[in-house]
Amino acid sequence: MTNSKSFSFEFFPPQTQEGANKLAATRKQLAVLKPAFFSVTFGAGGSTRERTLEAVQQIKADGYEAAPHLSCVGSTRENIRAILHTYKNMGIKRIVALRGDLPSGMATSGEFHYANELVSFTRAETGEHFHIEVAAYPEFHPQAKSPRDDLLNFKRKVMAGANSAITQYFYSADGYFRFIEECRKMGVTLPIVPGIMPIMKFSQLARFSDACGAEIPRSIRKILESYGDDTESVQSFGLDVVTQLCERLLAGGAPGLHFYTLNQSAPSLEIWKRLGL
Ligand code: FAD
Repeated sequence: MTNSKSFSFEFFPPQTQEGANKLAATRKQLAVLKPAFFSVTFGAGGSTRERTLEAVQQIKADGYEAAPHLSCVGSTRENIRAILHTYKNMGIKRIVALRGDLPSGMATSGEFHYANELVSFTRAETGEHFHIEVAAYPEFHPQAKSPRDDLLNFKRKVMAGANSAITQYFYSADGYFRFIEECRKMGVTLPIVPGIMPIMKFSQLARFSDACGAEIPRSIRKILESYGDDTESVQSFGLDVVTQLCERLLAGGAPGLHFYTLNQSAPSLEIWKRLGL
């Protein structure tokens, strides 16, 4: 029923051999689901440049599609050019182009200021070689001057040559559908795949959400808070919430799902099973 939809999983590059072994196992378990691609994040300020490349090489070596993330922060034209050509020569066909965030202590963002500049540069350097994914924010980017401005800035990235978008995670399907409607009204027609964050640990989720501006609705937050250290209840409730969200998104026409796995397979596998995909 969902064959035409795009399902993908996101990893972060591991720091240790133990982390790398764990990620290899996670990848193997998720590969059974035949995702469109596995993406690999790019650490704040370019801090994982080498490790992102290594993780991407491993995914390719196992025979799967890999989509490295690339960010403006901490990058120069020269090193972005080099990495684009490295990826192109490796047979990578898809990248996720981002602005990134300034890590504390880093004063300037680098030679590119916004993701639209990175998208334009990638097109100028490599033509139509890459399928370019960009980030979208149904609840708006925390630094946006206004929702309208954010939408116009999103359109700017699309006009620069993006092929599709992946959203920041959210727990309100209505917000996503409203965002899609606004995009369509502006003539932005590319696929916008919801980013899905399974709920595993409330304190971690709250920390991420504070940092990136993703809203945890009060009706969900209050219940999660009430479970305290009872991880089993948090996860069981979290699975119900996220499965229902995915069901609504897919039924309402979302073009796929992109799972923020945090390098774990179990939550995504369970949601997948419950969705009957
Ligand atoms: P942009 O699209 O450049 O937007 C950033 C802000 O600037 C917005 O407020 C926007 O409204 C405004 N803006 C955009 N263009 C202009 C313009 N031309 N003029 C004026 N204002 C403008 N971060 C990482 O460090 N590494 C990762 O691997 C990573 N992966 C991510 C994957 C996904 C799917 C998502 C949703 C986010 C990811 N992030 C990652 C986080 C992301 O880098 C941050 O959210 C960052 O703050 C914004 O990046 P962006 O590409 O959306 O920026």
